Amino acid sequence: MPGNGKIAICPGTFDPVTLGHVDIVERGLAVFDRVVVAVAEGARKQPLFSLEERAALLRETFRDRKGVEVKTFRGLLVDFTRQEGAKTILRGLRTVSDFEYEVQMASANRFLASDVETLFMMTDNRYSHLSSSLIREIVALGGTTAGMVPDCVQKLIDQKCKEGRR
Ligand code: ADP
Repeated sequence: MPGNGKIAICPGTFDPVTLGHVDIVERGLAVFDRVVVAVAEGARKQPLFSLEERAALLRETFRDRKGVEVKTFRGLLVDFTRQEGAKTILRGLRTVSDFEYEVQMASANRFLASDVETLFMMTDNRYSHLSSSLIREIVALGGTTAGMVPDCVQKLIDQKCKEGRR
């Protein structure tokens, strides 16, 4: 990648982005010149936030972070990775159950594209309990997620709750 620097693709559904995700991207920047946050549509029929909202919240979160770009993608992650001129997929790991799923995904991606490598970063202890599904559950039960998600995410959650949409 002449002139491009080292790029990592950080994929996920980010419904919504949590401080755990933010930590992985921030730490990724210490290793890579650029981190492209790749937002996938996701399989949930009723996401908390639409694809566009999720991407907009990520852009707001990393607004002042040079080196972070947010893009949405459809189709195979390895195709998107190549399209971006990258060779590395960066994923976070929390638990043994994460590990099982991640091994399968990394192996599948390696089979599809042997030139693309998957790298894992262990979660920071402060965020090891955080997941997007936990956030969605707390929201559905009427609790607050302040301190678990970026401020802009909390604001939009509060707004949606006020409007009675959730
Ligand atoms: P997916 O829908 O592909 O599982 P997510 O949006 O839930 O994507 O997560 C994207 C990536 O961030 C995954 O690699 C996941 O393991 C990682 N991740 C999620 N929460 C945390 C956390 N609290 N600490 C570290 N990594 C995390």
